Amino acid sequence: MLILFDNVLGRTGLVKRIADEDNIYNILKSSLERVKNCTCGKETSCYGCLRNYQSQFCHELLRRDVVLDFLENNLQDEESL
Ligand SMILES: [Zn+2]
Repeated sequence: MLILFDNVLGRTGLVKRIADEDNIYNILKSSLERVKNCTCGKETSCYGCLRNYQSQFCHELLRRDVVLDFLENNLQDEESL
């Protein structure tokens, strides 16, 4: 299960646009490439892959290997989505 949160005030509809089938596939595919190719340690994360300003409270919990495994195991060919 993947849950998307829209935390932008005024509900800009970004999550709705992301949830569109083609967009979500492209975003997950791009995410897979990002976590696969980042050069930080797999048991951690960096601002190049998983971390951002809003996630500072849990940076130490963000592991690139967990996300990489999830995406590789759940991202199927576009035709089967
Ligand atoms: Zn990284």
